[in-house]
Amino acid sequence: MLVKKAYKFRIYPSKEQETLIAKTIGCSRFVFNRFLGQWNDTYQETGKGLTYSSCSSQLTQLKKEFVWLKEVDSIALQSSLKNLADSYTRFFKKQNKAPRFKSKKNQVQSYTTKETNHNIAIVNSKIKLPKLGLVRLAKSREVEGRILNATVRRNPSGKFFVSILVETDVQPLKKTDSSIGIDLGITDFAVFSDGHKMDNHTFTAKMEKKLRREQRKLSRRALQAKNKGIHLFDAQNYQKQKRKVARLHERVRNQRDDFLNKLSTDIIKNHDMICLEDLNTKGMLRNHKLAKSISDVSWSAFVSKLEYKAKWYGKTIVKISRWFPSSQICSECGHQEGKKSLEIRDWTCSICHKHHDRDINASQNILAEGVRTFHMA
Ligand SMILES: [Zn+2]
Repeated sequence: MLVKKAYKFRIYPSKEQETLIAKTIGCSRFVFNRFLGQWNDTYQETGKGLTYSSCSSQLTQLKKEFVWLKEVDSIALQSSLKNLADSYTRFFKKQNKAPRFKSKKNQVQSYTTKETNHNIAIVNSKIKLPKLGLVRLAKSREVEGRILNATVRRNPSGKFFVSILVETDVQPLKKTDSSIGIDLGITDFAVFSDGHKMDNHTFTAKMEKKLRREQRKLSRRALQAKNKGIHLFDAQNYQKQKRKVARLHERVRNQRDDFLNKLSTDIIKNHDMICLEDLNTKGMLRNHKLAKSISDVSWSAFVSKLEYKAKWYGKTIVKISRWFPSSQICSECGHQEGKKSLEIRDWTCSICHKHHDRDINASQNILAEGVRTFHMA
């Protein structure tokens, strides 16, 4: 099966390359905003939008008026226009809100360029990009497949990244004849029907504490600047702290992503059928007391990774009904013991006297219910 995969690497542009990246981002934004303005006017007057091709020929004219547009990667400017046309199409289909003007102050600044005639390529430990030439790349894994495009990003902490989108042929994985149920837990991140538990990433908890502390410091710095009548943009201490917080966020995100990638790949490799609960209900349940934004994001990211990997490698994901009382049933004899409050971590079945760990029992019920619904469908 042909699938699209994205690779993200950090890049280390030289000073000149950094300047050119900044210029390209600026020009892409300029093109986007300029045509968005036109597009909005036309929409207000006629109820219709413009077309990509009419804007594209206008862009050629625009370059004669603003010659500095010629200094940067022309495909990036075309992509910016394409991006605008696509978001307008989605807007007309009521799939998203109307596109908004891009700001210099957006957290992440980026531009996208398309592959044509090998203008984007990996050359040893460098990446070749249009206009920039070879940029040093922290290549943590091999890029496999046909490169479709590349997005160059500058994040708030001042680091540069490239995301390379490729098209590649993936082969289904060997069948294992094994199925597993997963209970996305509260005390543990995930509990498996084979009895093992994945703890709620201790590293995230640690990082979170640190993050909160640094964030408080950031608020203090903002207040100090305000009291002194300094604009935040010029407040050095504030800006320094802001970069520190951004770096921490990034580290948490990366660690989480690595963790979830490894975990989901392992599960997909080892099992043919993966049974899970509907996430929405759980998310809502948790939101009151236990909501930790980080683990919530992790859950949905984890499930989506499992879903696309299952599709790639020929495995099956079964989501069970949100009303299924996974923690109330005895997985041994099927007796339904009734609701149990969250602090009850283990219990004994009144009928068969089997002693249960709450979450392992739940995941075993999820597995049984998943297998049952799968064979019914
Ligand atoms: Zn029982």
